[in-house]
Formats: sequence, C-alpha cells, structure tokens
Amino acid sequence: MTNIDMILTREFVAWREHAACTGHAEYFFNDAKKTNVREAKKICAGCPVKQQCLEHGLTHDEYGIWGGLTANERRVFKRNLRKKLSSALNENDHK
Ligand code: SF4
Repeated sequence: MTNIDMILTREFVAWREHAACTGHAEYFFNDAKKTNVREAKKICAGCPVKQQCLEHGLTHDEYGIWGGLTANERRVFKRNLRKKLSSALNENDHK
C-alpha cells in the first residue's frame, strides 16, 4: 500500500464513521430492486456525509448507491459536470 493509498483509506474510514447507511447495506448495493433504491435514497437524504460519499462514488466508479445517486445517475451527473466545465472554460477563453 502506498502513502497516498493509506491517506485515502484513512479519509474514507473517517467519513464512513458518520454514514447514515451503517447497518443498511442491503439497500445500497442492488440497483436492480427499485424498492431498495427508494429506501436507500431516503436514508441518504439525511446523511451528514452525503457530499464526501458522492465525491468518492464519482471518483472511484463504484457500483451501488453513493451520495444518494445510483451508478447510472452518477454517470449522467459526471457527463453534465463535464459539459458545464467545458462551457465555462470556453467562455473564459473568449474574455
Ligand atoms: S450518502 Fe447514502 S450511501 Fe453515502 S454514506 Fe450517506 S447514507 Fe451511506
């Protein structure tokens, strides 16, 4: 394990300690069951570490629900984010 891996692991463990989904894994890793997705999203809605969780899910291409978004929703989120960044950079180039 490299130093950066150790730092990332420590950070991951730190915010996971505050996760509202602790003890509810059955809702978070089965995108096929819509009822589970709905239940998972209810739990995520009140989670104090939603942002850290979403950032992890976006940067690590994990399966399941992270930050209240399914894998498909995260793909769309990333695509939209890239479009906005590209647009902002183009606008900046023309100033
Ligand atoms: S946002 Fe959802 S999946 Fe992420 S830690 Fe919180 S409850 Fe768990």
